[in-house]
Amino acid sequence: AQADSGAPTIFDKIISKEIPAQVIYEDEEALAFRDINPQGPVHFLVIPKVRNGLTQLSKAKEEHKPLLGHLLYVAAQVAKQEGLSQGYRVVVNDGPNGCQSVYHLHLHIIGGRQMNWPPG
Ligand code: 5GP
Repeated sequence: AQADSGAPTIFDKIISKEIPAQVIYEDEEALAFRDINPQGPVHFLVIPKVRNGLTQLSKAKEEHKPLLGHLLYVAAQVAKQEGLSQGYRVVVNDGPNGCQSVYHLHLHIIGGRQMNWPPG
C-alpha cells in the first residue's frame, strides 16, 4: 500500500459514472457499491461523494463529523438491505500500516460468512 498523494482516485470515476460499478445505494452525500474483489459473499464500500480532504480517516476534522456519522448510518441501512441479519464487519483501512490502497475514505462492509478475530 502506498501513502496518500492527494490525487484523484478511481472512486472519483465511479462517482461520476465514468467507470461502471454495481451501485446499491446512493444519496446526496454517499454512495455504496460492491467491491470488485469481494472478501465475502457480501462486500460493499460506502464512500462520501465529495472527498473534501477525507483521503483517509486519520485526516478527519471537526467539520467532517456529520458526514462520518452519515456514512456509518448508511453502512447499517445498506447491510440490512443486503440481508446481513447475522452480522457483518465494518472496516476502515488507514494508511500504509492499515493496508489502505485507495485514498478516498471508504468503509468496507463484509458479511455473509463467519468472520475471524483478531484480524491479521
Ligand atoms: P483499501 O485497500 O483502500 O482499504 O480498499 C480499496 C478497495 O477498493 C479494495 O477492496 C478494492 O478491491 C476496491 N476497488 C479498487 N478499485 C475498484 C474499482 O475499480 N471498482 C470497485 N468496485 N472496487 C474497487
